[in-house]
Amino acid sequence: MNYYSTNKQAPVADFREAAIKGQAPDKGLYFPESIPQVDPEMIRNLPAISNEEIAFRVIQPYVGATIDEENLYRIVSETVNFPIPLVPVTDRISSLELFHGPTLAFKDIGARFMSRCLGYFTKDRKEKITVLVATSGDTGGAVANGFFNVEGVEVVILYPSGKVSPVQEKQLTTLGHNIHALEVAGSFDDCQAMVKQAFADQELTQKLFLTSANSINVARWLPQQFYYFFAYKQWQHKEQPPVIAVPSGNFGNICAGILAMQSGLPVKHFIAACNVNDIVSDYLSSEILRPKEAVPTLSNAMDVGNPSNFIRILEIFNHQFPLLKEKLSAASITDAATEEVIGEVFRQFNYILDPHGAVGYLALANYLKDHPAEKGIFLETAHPVKFPDAVERNTKQVQLIPAMLEPLMQQQKQSIFMAPGYQNLKEYLWNKS
Ligand SMILES: *Cc1c(COP(=O)(O)O)cnc(C)c1O
Repeated sequence: MNYYSTNKQAPVADFREAAIKGQAPDKGLYFPESIPQVDPEMIRNLPAISNEEIAFRVIQPYVGATIDEENLYRIVSETVNFPIPLVPVTDRISSLELFHGPTLAFKDIGARFMSRCLGYFTKDRKEKITVLVATSGDTGGAVANGFFNVEGVEVVILYPSGKVSPVQEKQLTTLGHNIHALEVAGSFDDCQAMVKQAFADQELTQKLFLTSANSINVARWLPQQFYYFFAYKQWQHKEQPPVIAVPSGNFGNICAGILAMQSGLPVKHFIAACNVNDIVSDYLSSEILRPKEAVPTLSNAMDVGNPSNFIRILEIFNHQFPLLKEKLSAASITDAATEEVIGEVFRQFNYILDPHGAVGYLALANYLKDHPAEKGIFLETAHPVKFPDAVERNTKQVQLIPAMLEPLMQQQKQSIFMAPGYQNLKEYLWNKS
């Protein structure tokens, strides 16, 4: 399988090159030249096939010969080695719980797969790879955990001091070894700007091999297809494919689901569940994509004003708007409605939503009101414990730190404090190498 750049001004790359580079040299996103079809027999037999085997069969055509089958099987097995249950909440709505991984958010899947692929690709290289990433919370933890102790890879994470939750900060700062946390006395945008400047600095990139670990990297994006297959494996109404609502920010997750559908997974319809950052619902009514400044909300991992992966959705549908509109709708949910639905679902169905899952749930419930014959799934993308304030306020429940987090909360934070400004980052990276 080769990947072309969505800007069409760069040579094609195989999976290895696309994963190592992250972004195409013309600043486009890599996209597969064709969408492989899964065997219909596999879809009929899903309940009898292990998650490892499903993941292997889904990803193998994308990886091609760049990773041998034995190593790829090992990599997918390590990627999906925690439960991903489909839990019924009402008689028409089920929750796909993606928060049972080590950092309690769905990003674990993509980060674990990507880190192991990069580890495999770098094992014979003399030169180390430095993964540089700015985080507003969840990405950093998943990336740190995924890359911890991966040979040949150093990870540098920038996060805004005082603006990530206590659990998130521990996940970022306590691992040590090859994971380095830079605590920036500024905002997420300051961190992001420093990282962008580093990638654009030729003097630096000649000295250091830098790559990024955000969802534009194919090795993080493509494995997110796995759990859509796991969801259908557990789906009880096989005569009727599910409507799937995906809490969306940068649109990597939902785009992976749409790709899975185009490969043959039965899905009736997708809903992009957004908070008030509603660029895509705007697009679906006006056909014009207008990036905006992101507005902060309770579901902060979805506060994105210019979703980078949306271009890949257009690419899947060949930029044909009517096809896209038939399969995708979008909803925009306010913080007030998010808080209300957290309380309501807890009282009526005894299920605790996090703010991101709550946006997904409500977008789905509203859609099902207008489509009385359908049933659906929403993706619960993070554990409620990561967002204790909103959850406690609306459920009046004390959130217990899950037992698995206790050892983490005891660990000592190790971070390097840094004032914003690119020179500080450059000096650090320069002296480190
Ligand atoms: C990152 C994230 C999202 C948004 O996912 P995208 O792929 O960027 O659309 C949703 N929920 C949670 C909890 C996240 O961490």
